[in-house]
Amino acid sequence: MPHYEFFCNACKKTFSKILTIPEHDADKIACPHCGSHEVEQSWSAFSAVTSRKSA
Ligand SMILES: [Zn+2]
Repeated sequence: MPHYEFFCNACKKTFSKILTIPEHDADKIACPHCGSHEVEQSWSAFSAVTSRKSA
């Protein structure tokens, strides 16, 4: 099962969730640490693609 990395902007912590639904809206994800919805997806699997424009 794929699990996704998230970063909470409220408490600056990262967490991972296993999402089975195709639409993994970050809006619906609540931080397990503080319960905030100010989370963004880290895209650990794709971080290499987005962070490396040239090279
Ligand atoms: Zn949090």
